Amino acid sequence: MRMFRQALLSLLACVALPGAAFAYDASAMVVSTKGSLPLILTVPHDGAEPLDALPARTKGTVVRDAGTRELAERVATLLEARLGKRPYIVVARFSRKYLDANRPEQEAMESQDALPAYRAYHDQITAYIAEIKTKFPAGALMVDVHGQSGDPDTTFRGTRAGLTAKTLLGRFGQPALQGEKSITGVLASKGYPVHPAVGAESLREDPRYAGGHTVATYGSHQPQGIDAIQLEFGRNHRANTRLAEDLADALVVFMTEYDLLRK
Ligand SMILES: [Zn+2]
Repeated sequence: MRMFRQALLSLLACVALPGAAFAYDASAMVVSTKGSLPLILTVPHDGAEPLDALPARTKGTVVRDAGTRELAERVATLLEARLGKRPYIVVARFSRKYLDANRPEQEAMESQDALPAYRAYHDQITAYIAEIKTKFPAGALMVDVHGQSGDPDTTFRGTRAGLTAKTLLGRFGQPALQGEKSITGVLASKGYPVHPAVGAESLREDPRYAGGHTVATYGSHQPQGIDAIQLEFGRNHRANTRLAEDLADALVVFMTEYDLLRK
């Protein structure tokens, strides 16, 4: 009887989970929209979805970057209204409690069951960047959109001190990253304190927000990469209802000045 019960249980387990321990649809954990501009917005930390019954991670940051998905989506709509073209967008729907998409694979999760969602997010970014590089060989930009509350009145730029925007710096020099027509330069002119400061001599960034796994993986220092900038919007900046318009303005100024809107 006992043997029969064990055999029945293992048969049931096989039927319920053929070949895999997870049951969620990994592709449904990522929202993506193809664009028509040489610009991709990525949002790794504003998801709320669980991954099956995975327990929360016990190490690393699990805080949600509240408002960053809406910010990226509103900016896309505003850019389309202004330019008639949209940026590419990739948004993680899974909660950072279970999986951190902005970490290397081995640090991103504590259960391999999270791996399909991680791969779905990064495979989509990789595919879009390959397409962008083909369509826009003259140059393109990734903005990895984050929020932080450690310094709620400051927005931080992270490029690993210019490394992940190597092509941009080589062509245009430091003003492209921290001059008046840089993205943070325009935001500063609209009243948002930024770090590094506009016109700063050094490209040194705050070590807390100096550029994570995403910009380090897809930045222009990598053979398959494009210029990549991480932006960490302060909590009070995200609470400003004008932020999406101001960021869209900053992107238009930047893309115009740095040759990303040429035919
Ligand atoms: Zn973040």
